[in-house]
Parts: sequence; structure tokens; C-alpha cells
Amino acid sequence: MTKPVFRFAPSPNGRLHLGHAYSALLNADFAKRFGGRFLLRIEDIDIARCRPEFEAAIYEDLAWLGLVWESPVRRQSEHFSDYRAAFLRLKERGAVYPCFCSRKEITAAIACQETETDRPWPRDPDGTPLYPGTCRNLSDEEAERRIASGEPHAWRLDSAQLQRMLPGPYRYRRFDREGREEIVAADPWRWGDTVVVRKETPTSYHFSVVLDDALQGITHVVRGQDLEAATDLHVLLQTLLGLPTPLYHHHGLVLDQTGDKLAKSRQSTSLAEARAAGLDPQAIRQRLGF
Ligand code: GLU
Repeated sequence: MTKPVFRFAPSPNGRLHLGHAYSALLNADFAKRFGGRFLLRIEDIDIARCRPEFEAAIYEDLAWLGLVWESPVRRQSEHFSDYRAAFLRLKERGAVYPCFCSRKEITAAIACQETETDRPWPRDPDGTPLYPGTCRNLSDEEAERRIASGEPHAWRLDSAQLQRMLPGPYRYRRFDREGREEIVAADPWRWGDTVVVRKETPTSYHFSVVLDDALQGITHVVRGQDLEAATDLHVLLQTLLGLPTPLYHHHGLVLDQTGDKLAKSRQSTSLAEARAAGLDPQAIRQRLGF
């Protein structure tokens, strides 16, 4: 039997905090208990926000925690051509369409719909209003003309088309700390016409995470509950691209004193600060329940 493969996949856009430490330690703990491998992947597709010093700090913080991972580490920014090739497959299948809208235009179209229907516009599980479909019905000629003229554009999944092509039902297997598995129903349609290729990068989080998990042979994905709903979309992308669906475990989030989830953007205490304040790795492990 092949060994289970786990991965921790941080983005180098800030210092790691206790929530990251928990996720990394849990992955490594699972890998150890299941006799599996533990990989690290640097999710740095957002070249404007990711910085080499944060990547260096990830290695430093994880090593300080006592974690050991396999080399070489996969860095997503080195694989834009893989994402491009996979995207062309989606395009050939007619699963995506180009979208030229700016955020402002999308907001205005939704406000207009809300006024017209006197109803709140539906939102995705992250709370973002679903794309109102403005560019869905552009003619091929117009879309090609606008692309040829250099107009910035993203590529979105055509969810109406996909519901006809691949109606489902969708499901995946989740596992718990004891290794028990159960089947979970997935509803990818609640994400609407998601962006798979952004305007400014040749991929997106959802697209590259699904491709890389498959390329790296990840069998078990362990990540925070904040990404649980995204798994529904990942299962659809795996089906569309003919990729295997790993097993998933979505762990609880480490909260701060006020009950909010830790976030780099809220300047939550970083591991580096905890270290500077005199905490040792053993104390961190204990605090996180290992
Ligand atoms: N790069 C993502 C993050 O830092 C995690 C992706 C994943 O585990 O699927 O939140």
C-alpha cells in the first residue's frame, strides 16, 4: 500500500501565527501516526503580497517548532506554466469564460439587481455576493476582440454549463483524529461562477491548490475549518480535471482572547513574537494540545 501523504501549505504574505503552528503540527502528527509523509508547499501565487523574507521565516519558524519536511519544497510561483496548461484544458472543454468586469462594476450590477427585485443578492459561503453573470453571455467574437485589444480579464467557471455537463452529485470522504472516515455531500454550485484564473496571475488559490495536491500525490488534506466550504468547489475542479479527490480533515481554528480567528491581517501574535517573549516549542505544543 502506498504511504499517506500530508502537506502544510502556507502563503508567505506575513509571519506565521499560532493557528498556522496548529495546522502544521497537526499535519505532522497525522503523518507520524498514519506512517505517512509530510510535505511543505509555499503558496506564493500572489506575487504582490508574498515576500522572500516571509518564506525564509516560514522555514525558520517550522524548524524551530521541531518539524521536518521533505525536500524540495514546491513553490507555486515556479509552476505558472503547469497552471496555464491545466487552464487550457478547461477552456477547451468550454468550462470557463472570460470576465472583464471590475469590482466596481460587479458591485453596481448587484446593487441594481437588488433594487429591481427588492431582495438581497445571494452570497457564496465566504459572504461574497455571487457574480451576477454580466460577461457570461458575451459573444465569442466580442470576447476575442476584447482579449486581443489587451483588456484585462479573469476567467470564471461557467457553473450553469457545468451543472449540465457534470451534474453530480458531489461528495468526498472526511477523516477524524482516530482515522475514522465518513462520506460528506458537497455542493459546489453555491460558489457560483468562481474565478479560476485571476486578472493579475495565471491561476487562483482554488485552481492551484487542487492541481498541486494532485501533482504532489497528496492523499490527506488537513486544513482549517475556514476552508471547509471551499472543499465543495475543489471536488468539482478535481472532477473537471480528472484528478483524484484526497480525504479531508478540517480542524477547528485557534481563536484569540476575544474569540476571533487569528489572522495575519489582524496582526495576531506571531510565532516569532511568542519566541521572543520566551515561549519554547514545548510550551507552544502544550498550549495547542499536542
Ligand atoms: N495557502 C492557504 C492558506 O495559507 C492554505 C491552503 C490549503 O491548506 O488548502 O490559508
